[in-house]
Amino acid sequence: MGNQQELIQHLEQSGCTYWENESMKEHISFKVGGTADLFLKPTDSEQCAAILTYCHENELPLLYLGGGSNVIVHDFGIRGTVLCTNGLNDLELLDGCRIRCGAGVKLSRLCAFALEHSLSGLEFAWGIPGTTGGAVYMNAGAYDGCIKDVLESCEHITPDGQRQTVTAADVKLGYRTSIYQKNNNLITSVIFQLNPGVYEMIREKMDDLMNRRREKQPLEYPSAGSTFKRPEGYFAGALIEQSGLKGATIGGAQVSEKHAGFIINKGDATASDILRLIDKVKQEVFDKTGVHLECEVRVLK
Ligand SMILES: Cc1cc2nc3c(=O)[nH]c(=O)nc-3n(C[C@H](O)[C@H](O)[C@H](O)COP(=O)(O)OP(=O)(O)OC[C@H]3O[C@@H](n4cnc5c(N)ncnc54)[C@H](O)[C@@H]3O)c2cc1C
Repeated sequence: MGNQQELIQHLEQSGCTYWENESMKEHISFKVGGTADLFLKPTDSEQCAAILTYCHENELPLLYLGGGSNVIVHDFGIRGTVLCTNGLNDLELLDGCRIRCGAGVKLSRLCAFALEHSLSGLEFAWGIPGTTGGAVYMNAGAYDGCIKDVLESCEHITPDGQRQTVTAADVKLGYRTSIYQKNNNLITSVIFQLNPGVYEMIREKMDDLMNRRREKQPLEYPSAGSTFKRPEGYFAGALIEQSGLKGATIGGAQVSEKHAGFIINKGDATASDILRLIDKVKQEVFDKTGVHLECEVRVLK
């Protein structure tokens, strides 16, 4: 059976960049969490396939990270390997209205690229942090749109290293869910189908949505955006506020005073503070309103 040192030798041969005992705080928007034993940044899908195959064959634990804007890492860190997709950053216009995009491309760069080519459909994503791969995994969305509206197909690698291409229908996108939350495939690249638009109108919508974010969201503090999914028929923020939890604090974690749907890191929060506050909010909202809140943020473990 292989081990981490052998994996490192493989990485050195393939030219993949890696770090040992990497602080995960630097890589996640909540700014909490311990170290990962090994942190990898492959730059193409060949390197990814080799890593997945090696870890699969040798039963080494492997986790995937995009922009880190929807995850928490425990304070004790990750005893295993984290593959960060940042290096998968190709972006190209395929024909009039289609864009192929590496999974590590930031949504902000993708949206700016679509605007540059007067392509409409991704305006909703302007202001959502993170990468394209993470956005597909979560079916990220805001205001009147989500990834499901614009996804044509995905390329991914299965845990045993096979490269496959699937259509949007195969990805089974639903409210903040996708098949990738079940199958542990690594998304490597994505094709979006957009519509021809008018530059000024696209720009105006993007500016409007960004202004609404700045007005309503506590963007000055580290967070992972909305902590909870929207329960059917309700708004999580309103339920939390009704339950008297606005401003509730555990250690350095707080239910934002500006937007109760966000848990924020006031500066010195630990992952444990945040996780305990999430549990408290879920429990008290259920006790007071009878509604179960489901956490949208994922624990990387
Ligand atoms: C201020 C703020 C505002 C936000 N606003 C919104 C919003 O309006 N709408 C919204 O939907 N979300 C929002 N979010 C949450 C977050 O930005 C999205 O969920 C985003 O799509 C996550 O992408 P990421 O690359 O950061 O994923 P990460 O946080 O890195 O990962 C999320 C999950 O996806 C998996 N993953 C990542 N990349 C891949 C890949 N290539 N292949 C397979 N699995 C992968 C990870 O393992 C993890 O389980 C917000 C977050 C913040 C901090």
